[in-house]
Amino acid sequence: MGCKKLDINDEKILMKKYQSYIDGKWMDSLSKETIKVDDPATAKTIGEVACAKKEDVDVAVEAAHKAFKSRVLVDMHPMDRAKLMRKIAEELRKVSKEAGKLLCYENGKPLPGAEYEFVDAANYFDYYGGLTDKLEGRTIPVNKGVIDYTVLEPYGVSAHIIPWNYPISMLGRSLACAFATGNSTVVKTPELAPLAAASFFAQALDKAGVPKGTINIICGYGDEAGTYLTSHKDVAQITFTGSVPTGKKILHVAADRAVPVVVEMGGKSAAIVYPDADLDKVVETAKGAIFGHAGQICSAMSRAVVHKSVKNELLEKLAKLSKSLKVGAGYEGGELTPVISEKQLQKVENYARSGVQAGAEAVAGGKRLDRQGYFFEATVFDKVKQDMTIANEEIFGPVLSVIEYQDPEEAIKIANDSNYGLAAGVFTKDLDQATVTSNKLEVGQVYVNSWFTGSIATPFGGYKQSGFSREKGQEALKSYLQVKNVGIQL
Ligand code: NAD
Repeated sequence: MGCKKLDINDEKILMKKYQSYIDGKWMDSLSKETIKVDDPATAKTIGEVACAKKEDVDVAVEAAHKAFKSRVLVDMHPMDRAKLMRKIAEELRKVSKEAGKLLCYENGKPLPGAEYEFVDAANYFDYYGGLTDKLEGRTIPVNKGVIDYTVLEPYGVSAHIIPWNYPISMLGRSLACAFATGNSTVVKTPELAPLAAASFFAQALDKAGVPKGTINIICGYGDEAGTYLTSHKDVAQITFTGSVPTGKKILHVAADRAVPVVVEMGGKSAAIVYPDADLDKVVETAKGAIFGHAGQICSAMSRAVVHKSVKNELLEKLAKLSKSLKVGAGYEGGELTPVISEKQLQKVENYARSGVQAGAEAVAGGKRLDRQGYFFEATVFDKVKQDMTIANEEIFGPVLSVIEYQDPEEAIKIANDSNYGLAAGVFTKDLDQATVTSNKLEVGQVYVNSWFTGSIATPFGGYKQSGFSREKGQEALKSYLQVKNVGIQL
């Protein structure tokens, strides 16, 4: 899909100072400090956001706590909550074009994808809005003369920690579910891409008439605002989406206070390519699944486990694809867009170097691009062995590791030989083979002859170190509700 070049002098959205949204008000941080945000395609600053410190987190949690205690959401008729959520969805859709531009600048991804994040967030509000009046308890037969029933209740203040790769989709995903179930929230947006959330997203909530304090949006650094928020005494539930090391830290913090946590973490997802696979389909899929958004996707197709008989043909096609991608900023119609930061670029470079040192061979790409911004070549590694770092660790860049196998059991073993278990794919024309393989894969979602087949309605989450809860779909409701049992002796 083509995109028009944006106007870097767009005064309406760029070089602005965005604030926190707390208790229905726009606020600077108490210290007046801000976080500067760069365009990864040029490495130039494009705006700033209020930098929340501990004292700002306190103000936001207090607002959320007060709103929860007031029961404004809990006592709202479920159908009214649904109407409010549909209004939020409508406001998010209205701004998706302009807001997508800002997201495209700060996050680097292709413009259509950035615009779609706002539509995606809107879809979550519609979907969970439709479930507000279906959160039903049960009646349970017990002793004669006793009426026993269950009630589903929110936890209270729900803290959401959001990653930079899909900052608006991820925000919509957890927030809509927490709101539908009556929790008040404090969201900490990612310091590398907070602007679209602090501006358009918060404004959409405000315009829709969200009750004061029920949703609060702040940005701050993970090691200060993030740590303090997740350990706050008035936070009753935590949703974290991000890397495994941070997720583990949050799990420790939550364990100290015995607070429930949703953890959605990284992946090293493998596509198994059987000899009968449509190789052109594999290549078309790889375009979005590993080179899209420069591979900075939790469920990226970062490994291809390919049968010996078709490996060379597939490698040739993949190399051709990687060389054909138009390099450029998301707002210039780039297909291979930048990674988020210099630090991330260096990380990808180091992984690529380690691959070569360990004996892998780059049939395409392998190094950073000699241009401004944080671009890395679309890279395909052949001769990857299971014990190499590039076969095991999440690179979070446009790097595909191809591993050869000889029989199906070996392919499944390789795919499962990972600490991660987020997603996997199977490419074959044989539906029996696809089903048997899917059953044996140790992952939260399997894609057959495709990738990203899910929608807002399909549960999403990991096995193993990729996490253990579920977001999206009706499964996610459980993470935001606790069950109360009431027994009445007649
Ligand atoms: P990250 O773990 O570095 O940061 C995620 C968020 O955590 C940021 O907002 C950060 O400020 C905050 N944070 C950092 N340290 C913290 C701490 N000690 N306490 C509280 N908060 C803290 O991850 P990232 O680099 O922003 O995102 C990329 C990672 O996210 C990848 O591993 C990717 O696979 C994963 N991810 C997973 C999913 C999913 O649904 N499974 C979706 C998107 C991204």
